[in-house]
Amino acid sequence: MSKKGDKWIKHTHVFETTEDPYAMKEAPAGEAICPRCKAVFKDKRWVIDEELYEELKEIDTVPQLICPGCKKALEQYAMGYLYISGGFWESHKGDIMKLLNNEYERARNINPLHQIINIKDEDGVTVIETTTDHLAQRLGRALYRAYKGDLEFKWSKGDKLVRVYWHRDK
Ligand SMILES: [Zn+2]
Repeated sequence: MSKKGDKWIKHTHVFETTEDPYAMKEAPAGEAICPRCKAVFKDKRWVIDEELYEELKEIDTVPQLICPGCKKALEQYAMGYLYISGGFWESHKGDIMKLLNNEYERARNINPLHQIINIKDEDGVTVIETTTDHLAQRLGRALYRAYKGDLEFKWSKGDKLVRVYWHRDK
């Protein structure tokens, strides 16, 4: 484990468990909606279905719950980090963000648990925190497919947390 990894080590501990504390212990019996991201709970899973959302939100008896993806996002419980750096990123931010947003939409449509928690800059590196390891990997792979560059994955012990590094100089 590297030295600069105080934070990393802490996360490694947290993620040694194989249990996801956000897995729903008590699932609603019928349908439910998440007012934050407009996901719909049906057939025992959360999905994106805008039409159904609009219908269900008019019904008083349909419970409004914060879905597990939103809970993670609200509590900033990241399971994936994507680090983007290099001169190419600096000069193509607009196009690259468009690509990332499209990929994010696709991932969310497959499973609304995949959410971007926040995007921040750390010493010239842009860091995108995601609620699932899957989403960080997926965004990293999309960058590589579109723009090549260097792509690297680093897993925590227990494979619960991933750090994805994408870099291209020019
Ligand atoms: Zn939600």
